Amino acid sequence: MKKKPWIGLVPLIDPERESLWMLPGYMEGVLAAGGIPVMLPLTEENTNIPELLDRLDALIFTGGHDVSPSFYGETPVPECGRSIPERDTMERLLLDAALERDMPVLGICRGLQFFNAVLGGTLYQDLPTQHPSGVEHEMKPPFDRSEHEVEVLENTPLYDILGKKTLGVNSRHHQAIKELAPSLKPMALSPDGLIEAVWMPGKRFFLAVQWHPEHSFQKNEGSLSLFQALVKA
Ligand code: MN
Repeated sequence: MKKKPWIGLVPLIDPERESLWMLPGYMEGVLAAGGIPVMLPLTEENTNIPELLDRLDALIFTGGHDVSPSFYGETPVPECGRSIPERDTMERLLLDAALERDMPVLGICRGLQFFNAVLGGTLYQDLPTQHPSGVEHEMKPPFDRSEHEVEVLENTPLYDILGKKTLGVNSRHHQAIKELAPSLKPMALSPDGLIEAVWMPGKRFFLAVQWHPEHSFQKNEGSLSLFQALVKA
């Protein structure tokens, strides 16, 4: 029997409770797609990263706190949320190592923002103040419904996965890509012109989305198919 791929999940952090945690949806989405989800430890010890990656088949960079604006050479505006230096450091190590190995990677929400910031792009630190629009990006629950549409760009992996030009997505973010990193290409655009999904050409599977498939995979086939594509890769 073919073994199921092990998919490493970057832990979520609750500083107030001094705890690491995981939204069940990330794990359930991977399980529903036929993979085995594994929550990673928070480690800034560089030698642990290759040990971890040797035992994993793919990574998911999960949602979470704002990325430190220092990655793109800015100081935080008042509306910028808290960042977690330990997580930024660990994800930097993980990302470098995953790219080096060409390991399949899926970024979700903060994951997309983190990739863009680290790879040389910039972020809107706060959409309501820096990119006001009529599109609601910070929806109220329930999060398994679609809040706005995105236009899926042709000739991208997302279009190959979905086979359609529009997708309804949920939206829970107050930051977004401003200038795109040179190594990334857009895959989906919101009606107010934000890049809501990216990929890196030349890699086996390097995709990131601004929305939250972990909230919607049970209702939205497009969300489940993202997890399935990662497992297949
Ligand atoms: Mn959005």
